[in-house]
Amino acid sequence: MGKHLVLVGGGHAHMVTLSKIHELIAAGHQVTVIGPSDHHYYSGMGPGMLGGTYTPDDIRFATRHVVEKQGGQFLRDNVTRIDPVTRTIFAASGQTLTYDVLSFNAGSYVPTTIVAGDDQDIFLVKPIERLLEAKQRFIELIAQKKVAVGIVGGGPSAAEISGNLLQLARENEGRAPSITIFSGRRLMDRFPEPVRGRVERNLKRRGVRIIEKDYVEAVKSGRIYIRSGQTHAVDVVFLALGVVPSAMFKASGLPTGPDGGLRVNRFLQSTAYPNLFGGGDCIYFEDAPLDKVGVYAVRQNPVLFHNLKAALEGNALQPFGPGGDYLLIFNLGERTGVLHKRWLTFGGRPAFIAKDFIDRRFMQKFQSIE
Ligand SMILES: Cc1cc2nc3c(=O)[nH]c(=O)nc-3n(C[C@H](O)[C@H](O)[C@H](O)COP(=O)(O)OP(=O)(O)OC[C@H]3O[C@@H](n4cnc5c(N)ncnc54)[C@H](O)[C@@H]3O)c2cc1C
Repeated sequence: MGKHLVLVGGGHAHMVTLSKIHELIAAGHQVTVIGPSDHHYYSGMGPGMLGGTYTPDDIRFATRHVVEKQGGQFLRDNVTRIDPVTRTIFAASGQTLTYDVLSFNAGSYVPTTIVAGDDQDIFLVKPIERLLEAKQRFIELIAQKKVAVGIVGGGPSAAEISGNLLQLARENEGRAPSITIFSGRRLMDRFPEPVRGRVERNLKRRGVRIIEKDYVEAVKSGRIYIRSGQTHAVDVVFLALGVVPSAMFKASGLPTGPDGGLRVNRFLQSTAYPNLFGGGDCIYFEDAPLDKVGVYAVRQNPVLFHNLKAALEGNALQPFGPGGDYLLIFNLGERTGVLHKRWLTFGGRPAFIAKDFIDRRFMQKFQSIE
């Protein structure tokens, strides 16, 4: 007898499953996908969309359309928690539904605990959709004045956002913004020096100011407060702090990792409930905790699809192997980037060209399902 598979979130780790919904339906199962937006945005191209290299259509995947075209059901909603005993899903709108097998690919979010009060002109780097609002607002402001931008966070998204804002200002013939990155530790501290140094030199050469070894304590609309006691007046703030998994797992009483992600075994299966699976930023892979990068979500696709089908049909599960080193490429705007894999690091235009080629090919592959 057919079973009900529910996918929570249509993120990067569900792409293969989304493309094969018709197979599951042909086998007699019912498939429902729940997500807050009819589209899924590819984060690797998000900063490039902010800078104007890509249009929103270039970087998004029509989740609802793909699900419905294959006979699945799409519900636009936010899942808040589940009850794994009664197999019930609770959504923000108040609706509930039940499942036989459930897979989470609900991503991660930027914590906003440092925001005090009004959040006017404070933007988060995730969800990627929000970068669209930021882009419009930034264009409006640079037409009026020299804009002071504060970017809170010292990782790749802070670097990519700053470089792409410079491109956006130049292409829109606005006044060049003054950009300050409040990076806490050293900018890109967890990366090898050849990568870190190239990113830092690229941004400094283009006038980006970097405040290191001091932490932001609070952010208010128009002002950033740092621990050493200084305050900085800014027009726009981007929060590019480290992301954390959705809070829905703790709210559901499920076993989680130290970061709050759904604790899964090597089959990408909940360690407590065999009919729960997950992939991407929202899981804690207990065998070998993974970096929160899209690469792992993409690598998990075939295993997750296999295991969801196997769980529906009572077949054997496959283990996930995270694989070796992955290619890192950062898009720093103005068609420049930094590329790194193992012993190879280079910057400039060739790095951007490589990223652009890989990212466009990735999107074309999945958009072709549409
Ligand atoms: C600015 C930026 C640039 C990045 N660039 C790169 C890069 O170049 N390369 C790289 O490998 N990684 C990059 N990353 C990291 C990458 O974004 C993540 O690792 C990747 O997005 C993880 O994929 P995911 O599918 O788990 O999550 P997401 O891409 O966040 O997808 C989660 C999905 O779940 C949905 N969802 C969220 N909450 C709910 C809910 N409550 N109920 C139902 N659905 C929900 C969302 O709408 C979304 O569709 C970047 C991150 C950022 C912020």
